[in-house]
Formats: sequence, structure tokens, C-alpha cells
Amino acid sequence: MLLNDKAAAISGAASARGIGRSTAALMAEHGARVAILDIDGALAREAAAALGPQHIGIDCDVTDLAACKAAADEVIAAFGKVDVLCNNAGITQPVKTLEISAEDWNRILDVNLRGVLYLSQAFIPHMRQNGGGSIVCMSSVSAQRGGGIFGGPHYSAAKAGVLGLAKAMAREFGPDGIRVNCVTPGLIQTDITAGKLSDTARADIIRGIPLSRLGEAKDVAGAYLFLASDLSAYVTGAVIDVNGGMLIH
Ligand code: NAD
Repeated sequence: MLLNDKAAAISGAASARGIGRSTAALMAEHGARVAILDIDGALAREAAAALGPQHIGIDCDVTDLAACKAAADEVIAAFGKVDVLCNNAGITQPVKTLEISAEDWNRILDVNLRGVLYLSQAFIPHMRQNGGGSIVCMSSVSAQRGGGIFGGPHYSAAKAGVLGLAKAMAREFGPDGIRVNCVTPGLIQTDITAGKLSDTARADIIRGIPLSRLGEAKDVAGAYLFLASDLSAYVTGAVIDVNGGMLIH
């Protein structure tokens, strides 16, 4: 039980096969009370109820600062505090540089990067008041190697931005006892990738992965749990690869 008596908020944790949902389940299993924040509020409430009555689901579009602040207030009202924030929500789009419209750029940057800023801005004052906390942010192998498999260059840019933002926040809020770290997954089988991979493409990708398989949501949930818990008490500004060895550097 790594998160006994802890309260955790996880964005983008409603979708059934997603990394966020798997993380919510693992954190609940480890004793945390979990708030599932998602743009799909009904699904967030359903996902929370499936975990048990002590968990809550909240409507929250991470691109909307007022919604992020309202969600943080709701978490504090329900749990009395927040120890863990998982900035997990994200969207992708498989396009090439010359095809990226201004609208695409804004949408991808807004959810993946601005959302991390807004949700952190909403929760950090509560963590400060509580004497500290752990923020874990979702980046991607796409940020490190200049493109993953599905994300376009705007997705790589957004996820690379998350690395910079998280490291800067780690420096700024370390003295408040707030740790900030990132995970950089490779190809994880969730709805974001579902149905987009032919058998040949899948076999090609797996040939380039030393652990010889695609990732599962629970692979990333385990890294999130480590960074959320006191096992990583002296870790901040770090990036943990969860990619089966797809990128070793
Ligand atoms: P997913 O589509 O299952 O989950 C994304 C969740 O984010 C959904 O529940 C969705 O409703 C929610 N969401 C979307 N826009 C939102 C918004 N504006 N506000 C709040 N919630 C919003 O996909 P996933 O694969 O579980 O993705 C989770 C995170 O992992 C994303 O940030 C994604 O970019 C990242 N990631 C995924 C992979 C992969 O291969 N699956 C690899 C690296 C990084």
C-alpha cells in the first residue's frame, strides 16, 4: 500500500482502456482516494464509481483554467487535501508538418501542454498549503526522438514542452516540498492507438523493441505510482522512459 491516506487527482482518466484509468485503479488499490478528471464528465463519474464510493469523477476540460480551478476546489472539498496530481490528459493527431493547420496546432498544444500548466496552477496552491505533493506529467517518446508512431510534429512539440515545463516547475516548487517528474511512454495499446495499426506495422514496430512487445496501460501506471509515492521521495525533475527499450539513451 504505497498511497495510504493519500488523495490523488488524475486527468484524462475516464477512457476504459486508457493509461489514466489504469493508473486510477492502481492508485486506489494502493490506498489512495482518487479523483478522475476528464472532459467526459459522465464517463469520469462512472469510472470513479466502478472503483468504489470513496472516489469521485469530475467534469474538467484541462484547456479551461476556470474548470481546472473548480475541479481542484471540488477535490479539496471532497478529500480535504491533494497529495498527487497526474497530468495525464492528452490527444494526438497523425499528420505531417506541412499539413498542420493553425487550429490543429492550437488543439494539440492546448490539451497536451497548456493543460499541464493550468491543472498545475490550480493544484499547486493546495499542495503548498498541505506541505508538499507529487506532480507527475505525461510526455512521450515522441518528444525525445522527434516523432513517435501516431503523433505529428505538433504532438512531439507539445510533449517536449511538457518536459521543459515539468523540469522548470521541479526547480521552482522543490523548496515547497512539491516534486515534479515526467513519464515518456513508447507505444502503449489504448484507445488513442486502437485500430490504427495493421498487423505488418505492428510486427515492424515490435522488431524495434528490445522487450519484444507493445506496452500496456498498466506498464505506465506502475511508473506513475512510483513517482507519486514516497518511494521516489528524492526524485524530482526526472524523466522515466516506459518504452520497452524502443529508445535507449
Ligand atoms: P486515451 O485516449 O485512452 O486517454 C486520454 C483521455 O484524455 C481520455 O479519457 C479523454 O477523454 C481525455 N481528454 C482528452 N481531452 C481532454 C481535455 N481537454 N481535458 C480533459 N481530459 C481530456 O489515451 P491514452 O493512450 O491513455 O493517453 C493518455 C496520455 O498518454 C495522453 O497524454 C497521451 O498523449 C499519452 N501517451 C500515450 C501513448 C500511447 O501510446 N498510448 C504514448 C505516449 C504518451
